[in-house]
This record gives sequence, structure tokens and C-alpha cells, in this order.
Amino acid sequence: MESIKVLLAGPVLPYLEQELDKRFKLLKFWNYPDKTQFFKDHANSIRAIVGSSGYGADAALIEALPNLEIVSSFSVGVDKIDLGKCKEKGIPVTNTPDVLTDEVADLTIGLILALLRRICECDRYVRSGKWKTGNYKLTTKFSGKTVGIIGLGRIGTAVAKRAEAFNCSICYYSRTEKQDSKYKYYPSVVELASNCHVLIVACPLTSETRHIVNREVIDALGPKGVLINIGRGPHVDERELVSALLEGRVGGAGLDVFENEPHVPEELLGLENVVLLPHVGSASVETRKAMADLAIENLVAHFQGKPLLTPLF
Ligand code: NAP
Repeated sequence: MESIKVLLAGPVLPYLEQELDKRFKLLKFWNYPDKTQFFKDHANSIRAIVGSSGYGADAALIEALPNLEIVSSFSVGVDKIDLGKCKEKGIPVTNTPDVLTDEVADLTIGLILALLRRICECDRYVRSGKWKTGNYKLTTKFSGKTVGIIGLGRIGTAVAKRAEAFNCSICYYSRTEKQDSKYKYYPSVVELASNCHVLIVACPLTSETRHIVNREVIDALGPKGVLINIGRGPHVDERELVSALLEGRVGGAGLDVFENEPHVPEELLGLENVVLLPHVGSASVETRKAMADLAIENLVAHFQGKPLLTPLF
């Protein structure tokens, strides 16, 4: 397999780069500033692309590689891959579901608690010596609140399970009501937002879900509600969220993802009622290794003519 050319779309976990390098002829796309020369030298011989949550394969890249056989993503979200183009060309796409579900759900609960109980702000309070001048102000209870989930899939369900342990009522919105779910279903995001305290985005990013959290949804959530986004940045109309936070029309936001990562709107940096994370939903040593192994196993299975482990199609 050492002679098989695999294109790594962008920098990833060093472990994944090393393991790919051991097994394949790995080409790191970002190391070739002269793309014209790169395509002249390698376009006909690249047989696989490895993508991630940050880098994938757009239609132009897929078209430029006539012998591309598979795209393996080191992420569960595949919004950086042109799935339509892959389908059209009969190129299978794999991702890394399940192995990261618990990690992202754990972080979601952490984000909710950090936001409602102001954990980061409290930490800053102690570090800055302000505690000596008086106690920190009272915060908001999480236990017993109503949690609304946009996208009751693997991660959404794992979050719901955890929130149940906090005696929360769970409700959700997705395209179809889940017949086997005991949670309350709302047929629109606005209705969901109107009926919950904590609104969590956990659906995939598609053309349908871009800005699924818009001004109307944010206003339905209201000043007593908080938004948690652990999906993808473009799920939320960030400009609208920033205005709502500045105007006090929404209670707060816990954000792991942003519209234009790694850039975060300047206005958010000074707000106390937001917790901002650098897209670390699945970022533990254990989970990232499991994701890397799965991304590689999919490639190996493909080139050995075996069934793919986690194909999208
Ligand atoms: P999943 O199991 O496929 O669940 C996705 C859920 O979203 C399904 O319940 C689906 O239900 C729903 N959905 C799909 N399209 C929808 C739409 N148009 N409107 C409303 N709901 C919709 O996926 P997962 O493994 O839970 O992952 C979910 C997403 O989390 C990923 O795609 C990724 O973007 C994000 N993620 C983020 C991080 C991070 O680091 N922050 C880490 C991992 C994953 P229906 O089909 O019934 O609509």
C-alpha cells in the first residue's frame, strides 16, 4: 500500500499524519504552494483524500483527480465534502461516527454548566483577586430546566441522556418525529425554541440547516433562554446572535463552533454571558486517536477490497 497516493487536505492530528505516512504515499496539500505544478505531478495518481472538520474536498478538487477512489473524513460532519459530486462520480465517502459521540455530549453538558453557573467567569474572578473584594454574584440552576435539541441523532440523543440525569425535560426538532423516542417533538425550530430554556444545535450542516438558528428562533428563545452550538458555526446566524446578546434579547450562548473559524466576533469577547470554545467537541487524546484509527481503517479496508467500516455511501 506504500505506493498508493493519499492526499491529506489540511493539517490534522500529528498521530493521524504519522500513521497515514507509514501506510501510504502521503501528500500534504498545504506543503505545495504551486498548485498547478502539484496537479501536473500528482493529479492522475492520487487515489484517496483524507479530510477533517476543517478541510475536505470541494467539487473542483474532486474533478481535478480523475483516479480518486475514496474520501475518508476524520470527522463525523462531512460539510466540507461535496457529497453530491462524490455520489455523481461513484466515489464512496466515510466518516467517524459513534467513536466521538460521548466526547461531544460530555462537552455539551460542560458548556451548559459553564454558561449557566458562570464557571469560566468564576475562575477569572478568583485569579484576578476580586474574591477578596466580595462574593461572586448568583448564577442560574441547570437541573430541572427544559432542554431543546435540534437534531436528535447520535450526539443529540447522548446529550439528552445526560440531561435526563439532571432531571431536565427533553424536547427536540428534526425533519421527522422519531417514533421510538419518548421526548416531546416540535415540528418547527421556532416552537422548540419557544418551549425550552437551553437550545442545543446538534444537527449536520447542510444547505437546509445553514442559519437554522436565525433572528426568529433567537427571539423565540428569549432573554431567559440560552443557545448552545456544538454543531457547526454556520448553523447560527452569528450577526443576529451577536445583536441579540448585545441587546439582551437572549440570555447567553455557549459556542464550540463559529461561522468563520478561527475568527470570533470581537463583540463576543467582552461578554460575560458567553462561553467560547475553539471547536474542541471531540478533542481528547482518546477520542481523536479512535477517530484517526477509524479514518485509516476505512482507507485500508477500501484498498484491500473489504467492506468499508463506516461508509456514508
Ligand atoms: P447524526 O447521528 O446523523 O444526527 C443528526 C441528526 O440531525 C438526526 O437526528 C437528523 O434527524 C437531524 N437532522 C438532519 N437534517 C436536519 C435538518 N434539516 N433539520 C433538523 N434536523 C436535522 O449525527 P451526529 O453524529 O449526532 O452528529 C451531528 C453533527 O454534530 C455532525 O454533523 C457535526 O457537524 C457535529 N459535530 C460537531 C463536533 C464538534 O467538535 N463541535 C463534533 C462532532 C460532530 P432527521 O434525519 O430526522 O432530520
